[in-house]
Order: sequence, then structure tokens, then C-alpha cells
Amino acid sequence: MHLTSKLPEIGTTIFTVMSKMAADHQAINLGQGFPDFDPDPKLINMVSEAMKNGHNQYPFMPGIEPLRDVIADKVNTLYGHQYNKDTEITITSGATQAIMAAIMAVVHAGDEVIVVEPSYDSYVPAIRLSGGIPVFVQMIPPENQDQAFRIDWNMIADAITEKTKLLILNFPHNPTGAVLTASDFDALEEIIENTNIFLLSDEVYEHIVFEPQGHLSLSSRESLAKRTFVISSFGKTTHTTGWKVGYCCAPANMTTELRKVHQFMVFTVPSPFQHALAHYTKDASTYENLPDFYREKRNRLYEGLLKTRFKPYVCPSTFFLLADYSEISDLNEAKFSQWLTKTHGVAVIPVSAFYKDPDDPLSNHQLVRFCFAKKNETLDMALERLSSV
Ligand code: PMP
Ligand code: GLN
Repeated sequence: MHLTSKLPEIGTTIFTVMSKMAADHQAINLGQGFPDFDPDPKLINMVSEAMKNGHNQYPFMPGIEPLRDVIADKVNTLYGHQYNKDTEITITSGATQAIMAAIMAVVHAGDEVIVVEPSYDSYVPAIRLSGGIPVFVQMIPPENQDQAFRIDWNMIADAITEKTKLLILNFPHNPTGAVLTASDFDALEEIIENTNIFLLSDEVYEHIVFEPQGHLSLSSRESLAKRTFVISSFGKTTHTTGWKVGYCCAPANMTTELRKVHQFMVFTVPSPFQHALAHYTKDASTYENLPDFYREKRNRLYEGLLKTRFKPYVCPSTFFLLADYSEISDLNEAKFSQWLTKTHGVAVIPVSAFYKDPDDPLSNHQLVRFCFAKKNETLDMALERLSSV
């Protein structure tokens, strides 16, 4: 029977495509962003303890109180904003579901939503399913390997119209590792001051920032926090991407609408994981030590790539690193990534996949993304293979 697609231009995500290609060709998978090592055994024990202690039925719809408590304290300590755990914090099925619920809650048919490219792949489908119109603004690519991509705020200001309902930001940024500074916040503040634009700030890599300033959350400025859905995920922070536990902090009126969507998308999130994460995250060292843990891996990959024909870029945050392959090939990013996976046994992600039109020359900078959330031996094995490329 004929079915008119609601998402005609959307296929299978690049992460799934590249992971399958890696498996089919026995390639080392530095593509999709997930650790190839286990979480802390203490955390795993806490999950089974929670199950043994009877936490096996539907938990409270917005998430269990101890977890919302821990998040409220953490955000207040780190970013100086006190969210109300009862009315402003919701536990979601990963950041992905928080993103979908937030977008569905605010975007009406015909509303415009500004998306910064390169952009994480779940934003546009959520906008489209809500009947919204994505408006793309590209970041400025770096001129050399010592710089990261950056936002030109004049371009954001120019993209705003009377129909703009939401601006989506994602810093620390996947795939480029770019972070925002206080002057970016000043520019943003000025641009949206007299508008009714909401913000969605995807901060899933908040605890993986290598810069001395640490992470700047949109929740840290009152003028921004009052209009922002701040979204994060335990997947990145506790090496548990498969558990799919995330959260959204937002002012009460915005949270009320988000929860209306949330309760009919998933209603709630698995109870034992929530209890375990609440217990575990009380100990701040579980996230405070992450930059040191990942800095070592980043340096290992960066220094290893310097000995190959790839040119690695600075990586101020996240567990992704970009590298230029212009000395190796003239292929576009998608074709190069497939060739590298099939011929040299290392899977990567083309940065062009984070653009609306991956085939457009403007989406191709001869850059690929490597994930370094991997055991040292995995990184060393991949570097060995890359040394002959
Ligand atoms: N946002 C960004 C920028 C991501 O990189 C990811 C995935 N890794 C997500 C959201 C989704 O997070 P989750 O797995 O918690 O749904
Ligand atoms: N966020 C992960 C990445 O960027 C992938 C998540 C997914 O596969 N949905 O690689």
C-alpha cells in the first residue's frame, strides 16, 4: 500500500551505516561515537542492586526524585543556576528523546528553526515531524589546524525572521569539538534579547572539555537560561551510551509542555538505571576526572596522526577529532570514508554527513571525524593501519 513519507529525504543515519560497513569489512570502528570499554564495575553493581531492591516497576513519569536531585545540585554547583527538581528537570530516554520532545513541544507548523551546520543528525527530523522549517547557518571552517570551526553571530542574526521560533546550539560541538566563550554568549544575548525565540542547548559533552575554562553552559546566564532547554546525557559521561538515560533542564512553563510530549513518547525511563546513576553521580569525581581520562586518549590519537599523512586539528572538547586528508586523496568525504574503511580497515565519519547536502562542495572540507573513546590498544592498532595510508 502506498505510504507518503513524512521524512522523504531521511535515510539510515551515517553512524549506523558506517558501523555496519566497519563490521562487514572487519575494520576498526573509529566512526560512531561510543566507548569500546566497559563502564565502572561499581556502576554496573549499582544497577543490579537497584533491581534486587525492587526498582522494577514504572518509575515516576518525570524521573525518580534522587536523580533529579543530583542533577539539580550538580548544575547549581557547576553553572550557578538552581533548577527546581520538581518542575524544571525531566529524565529522558537519552538526549535524543529530550531533543525530540523539546522540539515537538515548541515548534508549530510553519515555524522556522535555526540549525547550525555541521549539525547533529537528530535535529532536522524532529523539526520536520513538527511541521517546522529548518533554516541552516554554516559555521566558519578553520583556516589552519590550530583553529576550530566557529559561529559568525552576524550570520545567525541575519537568519532570524518573524517566524523564527527556536535556535539550536550544540556546544561542546559534535563533530568539530568547538566550544563557546563568554564573548559568544554576549553576542547571543544581544541577538535574542528582544525576541520570543527559544533556545535548545545540546550539552551532552559538557564533561569532556579540555580547555582550562571548562564548560560554559547556557544555564549559567540568567538571560539565556530563562528561554533554554538545556539537554544532556549520562551516556557520554558514564561510558553507558547503550543505557539511553539523558535529561532536560528548562523553566517550569517549558518543562510542562515538554513533559506532555515525554509522557506519550516513552512515559518514563528504566528504573534500575535511574537509581544506579543517581547513586553514582553523587560522587563528583565520576565526571570531574573525565577531561584527564580523555585528554590522554586525544593526545595519543593526535600525536599518532601527526606521524601519518593525515593532518589532525586541535580538539578543545568531546571525544571526536577532525583530520584533513588532502595529502592522501581528492575524493569527497563520504567516498574517502568508505574507501578508508574498505581498503585500510579503519572506519571514520565524513563531516559532510552533518550538512543538509553532503554532496555539495561547500559541505566538503576534506575532513573526517575520528572517535577516540577507545581502548589504547584499539587506537594504536588503528594508527598502525593509518601509517600505511
Ligand atoms: N547530541 C549529540 C551532539 C550527540 O553526539 C549525541 C550522541 N551521541 C546525542 C545528542 C544523543 O545522545 P543520547 O545517546 O543520550 O541519546
Ligand atoms: N552521537 C553519536 C555520534 O555522533 C552517535 C549516536 C547514534 O548513533 N545515534 O557518533
